[in-house]
Amino acid sequence: SEDFSPDQKRYLEGFVSGVQAIRGSRGVAGFGGVVPFQGQPATNAPQAEPVPAGPDAIHLEAMARFEKDGKKLSPQEKAKRDEHPFDAYARFKGLAKEDKFAKQLDDFRIRFHGLFYVGPTQDSYMCRLRIHNGILKAWQFRGVADLSEQYAGGYTHVTTRANLQAREISAANGIPYIEGLVDMGLTSKGSGADNIRNITGTPTAGIDPQELVDTRPYAKEWHHHILNDRTLYGLPRKFNVAFDGAGTIAALEDTNDIGFQAIQVKDGAGVEPGVWWRLALGGITGHKDFARDTGVVVPLDQAIKVADAIIRVYIRSGNRTDRTKSRLKYVLDDWGFEKFLQAVEAEMGVKLVRLSGDHVAPRPESGRMTHVGVHPQKQDGLNWVGVGLTLGLMSCEQMRKLADISERYGDGDIRLTVWQNLLISGVKTEDVATVEQAIADIGLTTKVSNVRAGLVACTGNKGCKFSAADTKGFADKIGTHIDEIGLTIDTAINIHVTGCHNSCAQHYIGDIGLIGARVPVEDDDTVDGFNLHVGGGFGPDASIGRELIQNVKGEDCPAIVEKMLRGYLARREGDETFA
Ligand code: SF4
Repeated sequence: SEDFSPDQKRYLEGFVSGVQAIRGSRGVAGFGGVVPFQGQPATNAPQAEPVPAGPDAIHLEAMARFEKDGKKLSPQEKAKRDEHPFDAYARFKGLAKEDKFAKQLDDFRIRFHGLFYVGPTQDSYMCRLRIHNGILKAWQFRGVADLSEQYAGGYTHVTTRANLQAREISAANGIPYIEGLVDMGLTSKGSGADNIRNITGTPTAGIDPQELVDTRPYAKEWHHHILNDRTLYGLPRKFNVAFDGAGTIAALEDTNDIGFQAIQVKDGAGVEPGVWWRLALGGITGHKDFARDTGVVVPLDQAIKVADAIIRVYIRSGNRTDRTKSRLKYVLDDWGFEKFLQAVEAEMGVKLVRLSGDHVAPRPESGRMTHVGVHPQKQDGLNWVGVGLTLGLMSCEQMRKLADISERYGDGDIRLTVWQNLLISGVKTEDVATVEQAIADIGLTTKVSNVRAGLVACTGNKGCKFSAADTKGFADKIGTHIDEIGLTIDTAINIHVTGCHNSCAQHYIGDIGLIGARVPVEDDDTVDGFNLHVGGGFGPDASIGRELIQNVKGEDCPAIVEKMLRGYLARREGDETFA
């Protein structure tokens, strides 16, 4: 243009060629950016097909393969390709400054940062953290309380992945909330959308008298491994990984895509005897499948390498069209274990070790009531104290007091469990009574009935648009009813209440499982209700519950559950379990 001076022109030409060079090398947009530069090529030489490079290349290649096969990518896949959610952070900050929520595909993208727009149920964000092995320091726990009071609804929930969620976060407060977490050494990165979710482990890791291995270092290493490799975000779908150290509180690793189970390999197995991981794959109980034993055992220090290779094979092979079929289970169903394991071996460049179950010692069983009440640790004179929460709920004030108790009487750790409660560890035996009283003084308890101890519920229709019913509300009514009528169950009973087929509360593995349903009543109206399942289990009792009754009104559920429990107590023979 004649409007520019020669110096300005030189500067602009240099700027434009710099942009061209950057675009030519790594594209301009989306998942690693393969959108080729549209301007005039520098020479008349034929332009090569742009080759994806960098951490997103593996995803782009998988997407391209799908499209080449004539399949349509799902809108979420296109959203990731058009603009990588991490590259949208500045835009999300801009939205927050304008007091606007990220909605539609941006709601999908902002979930990579741990924020979920939960309208129309609540016109606000929910934030889900990630806490490796579910264990955080009391000062972090107090910090989350302070943040949740300042920027969220003044309470949090413990989730079924031993994690914390805060709700009622305004559009303007979403970014300050997640940045506040980072300031405390916590993060919410990758806790939603198509990412590897919170890494669970044995809640009593390091203090459990029966554990084979302390899961904390493995959960921590995997947590930081995935956080720091962009390739490991934006999978075909969400992905769960758990480490079970064979402690007394179940980590439910068999409900995960990858379950590492600590096992004792006997002498004479042809491999080093001692503690190894047994590899189970493909758990997704909402689709009626547990993680299945692959027959592979993994040296403890190789777990991260194996998990990394599994994820990369899954990235290449997972379904990018139909999100109902995109979980790891479906790759395994399609390929079979052997083909999948061979692909993992090719990825790693080493053979995996196969070992027959005959060479493995029986695993110590989990106790189903050890997440509540007082239990001796393997360290002499110390105990963990399991605190009962009503379906995971805690006020910020209660959280601060729990942090105080942990620091004053415990070891300063707060341990969350998949049973939606928490443990205070390292309590001296002489302080146990004081601690129990301090917990009672803040409206919580360590003395929980068997029904309450095994009662878990997802968010439900108070905060999740997918839910057909108020899961937490009706679950609480069931627990209250059984307590109020004084019905004592002398065995563990799990009641899992979930709002929809996503099955966040895993209704298929409960002794009694409820899944939300809109129950028809007069005048073409519907009310909150449930379909009831029975006979689910986990671990050695793994079993998918079967449907027993459909369309029970929520208000009728407490009485029906009472009848089921009374029927069990009246008819059981010997030590026959509910299942
Ligand atoms: Fe929402 Fe369904 Fe998950 Fe419950 S199970 S929290 S209703 S998605």
